[in-house]
Amino acid sequence: PHYIADTGRYENMPYKRCGNSGIRLPRLSLGLWQNFGEVDAFSNAQSMVHRAFDLGINHFDLANNYGPPYGSAESTFGKLMQKSLAPYRDELLISSKAGYDMWPGPHGIGGSRKYLISSCDQSLKRTGLDYFDVFYSHCFDPDTPLEETMQALDYIVRSGRALYVGVSNYSAEQTKQAITILRDLGSPLLVHQPRYNMFDRWIEDGLTQVLEDNGVGSVVFSPLAQGFLTNKYLTGIPDGSRAARSEQIHLQADQITQDKIAKVQRLSLIAEDRGQSLAQLALAWVLQPTSVTSAIIGASKVSQIEDCVAALDNLQFSAEQLAQIDQILVA
Ligand code: NDP
Repeated sequence: PHYIADTGRYENMPYKRCGNSGIRLPRLSLGLWQNFGEVDAFSNAQSMVHRAFDLGINHFDLANNYGPPYGSAESTFGKLMQKSLAPYRDELLISSKAGYDMWPGPHGIGGSRKYLISSCDQSLKRTGLDYFDVFYSHCFDPDTPLEETMQALDYIVRSGRALYVGVSNYSAEQTKQAITILRDLGSPLLVHQPRYNMFDRWIEDGLTQVLEDNGVGSVVFSPLAQGFLTNKYLTGIPDGSRAARSEQIHLQADQITQDKIAKVQRLSLIAEDRGQSLAQLALAWVLQPTSVTSAIIGASKVSQIEDCVAALDNLQFSAEQLAQIDQILVA
């Protein structure tokens, strides 16, 4: 059936200004890293993207190597654009990235101008888009001068391939340098994309300050620690979950330790007190720092997206709750 977006799609989603830019991002964004590849059912991918957009999620995050196989999440998104989303292109913020391994040889990985520009062109082809809203350097490359990587991003903007630039997984210090170089080039850094969740708080140790000081926003990834910060692993590893999928190498069963399960169980009691699911608590929690503009969730089912969006109904924490959470996390 032909898709028509819900006319109420902007009514409930809160949007937050990204740093001091003119862009406002939905507090939740959807990432296509997992579950949108060629190996996954297209109909489910389609339902998830449509439902997300109907709920006001108009920011979709891609990278060259999302799949599997590499490139196929972008192809899936391209198919969706063609089938149903093209009329909404100007409402959407679509990002992609290059940095991690994509194709064989020295020019298929890293931060060189050669890799970033050719990969961006491939990504545009796969998605069928004329431009990305944000194009990222996916990770810092110690073997390429930062100036070269930033000049490549600046060129990607000047040549019309993207509207804004971002960096992902850069340390506080690398980010500071990137901000300075990009400012001089005239394509200011719009956004940083770091991992942030209750089990990984590295950004609090310097990065958030750098972002705040420089008016740069962030979209944080894996806010649910890949699904670990939800009710699903409380009593074991359920069938069909990310940790149970054999082709999946990113969340392995052995990372789900007894110690962490004990913490998750204690956190779930706080969630219960707040009348939230654990996923909702985990999302509300990551959205607190001033520099966090949006959290990028992943999903394998429409119902997860609905559950996550309902987190936005209660983003407030009492000082006591925050202290309790800190206590559980450091224990
Ligand atoms: P999350 O931490 O949000 O984990 C998503 C997983 O959590 C889902 O696949 C699902 O697991 C589970 N889940 C989601 N919602 C619920 C819910 N309400 N109840 C129960 N379980 C739920 O994020 P990801 O790790 O998937 O990362 C999100 C996005 O961030 C990626 O798609 C990508 O765009 C970006 N990213 C960027 C990186 C970078 O280097 N820049 C690296 C990694 C991610 P299940 O599949 O088991 O059902």
